[in-house]
Order: sequence, then structure tokens, then C-alpha cells
Amino acid sequence: MYTIIGILFILGFILLWQANRQHQASGLPGYKVIYSDTSDWGPSEKPLYDKKLDLTGRPDYLIRQGNNIIPVEVKTARVYQSPYDSHIFQLAAYCYLVHSKYNVRPPYGILHYKNRTYRIEYTNELEASLIALIGEMRTKGHLRKIIRSHQSAQRCQRCGYRSFCDQRL
Ligand code: SF4
Repeated sequence: MYTIIGILFILGFILLWQANRQHQASGLPGYKVIYSDTSDWGPSEKPLYDKKLDLTGRPDYLIRQGNNIIPVEVKTARVYQSPYDSHIFQLAAYCYLVHSKYNVRPPYGILHYKNRTYRIEYTNELEASLIALIGEMRTKGHLRKIIRSHQSAQRCQRCGYRSFCDQRL
């Protein structure tokens, strides 16, 4: 019995280690699990829009902290190892939009899953990766190669790339 528990523990550790390595290799910033009381989160009212990138999106909540406005994205799913890259980019897009609209750069955003909450640093590197990704998704050649493979509006609703995907339903 103890042998099986030991093997499971080691397997879990290896999976966690691999996930961290993949995340680091992707160039995305670090994240931190935080405790958050959602009771004082205020829903954001209107979608935010940035003309320069022709980007629109509405974070689930905006929290005011001193001079900062922190976007929050709430996911109903559970997460087991680390936040999904697509969700990090979605949150980065909200950070960008908040900066554009209020002229104050949020130092981080919050990704809230059913079982865990992460603080995602909005670094210059993350912003640059976001802008590169948007450019890549909008390049005509790229779109010709990657055409939406489904007709499910529901799937697009849940997608982290929705804010900047030209193919969304
Ligand atoms: S928004 Fe829709 S079409 Fe675009 S990447 Fe997401 S699921 Fe695919």
C-alpha cells in the first residue's frame, strides 16, 4: 500500500515539474497562488476598447487598489497544475485594455479558478508576447493556414483568445 502511495506521489511530482518546465519554456511570466476574497470585486460594466490594436474585451471584474485598477478573469473550471497559457494571454489583454482606457498600467491581473486564484504579473515581456501573438493571429497568411475548425459559439465564448481572434463566433 505504502509503495503505491509512494509511486503516486513521485508521479505527481514529475508531472508538476514537467508542467513548470513547459511553462518556463513558453516565456510566460511567473504566477503566484493568492488568497482572494471575492466579496468586494465589482463587475466591470462596459467592454473596454483599444483603437491602436483594435482590441476589445470585458474582464469579469475590476478591482480598485489605491491608484491601480486590477482586472480579474473568473473561470468556472478547476485547475490542477498551473494556469492555462490562453487564460494568461486573455488576462494580459485585459491588463492592456485597462492601461489603454485608464492610463494606469496594472502591475498584475488575477485569474480566479474554482479551486485556486493566481496573481499574474503584467510584465513588459508579457505585453510584448501578447502584441506579437495578436499580430501573428491577424496575419493574413496565418489565418489562411488556421481557419476555425468548428461552428460552436459556446466554445468561442470560453476561449482565452476570444478578445483578439478574428475567427470568433
Ligand atoms: S475564439 Fe473561437 S475561433 Fe478563435 S481561437 Fe478561440 S475557439 Fe477558436
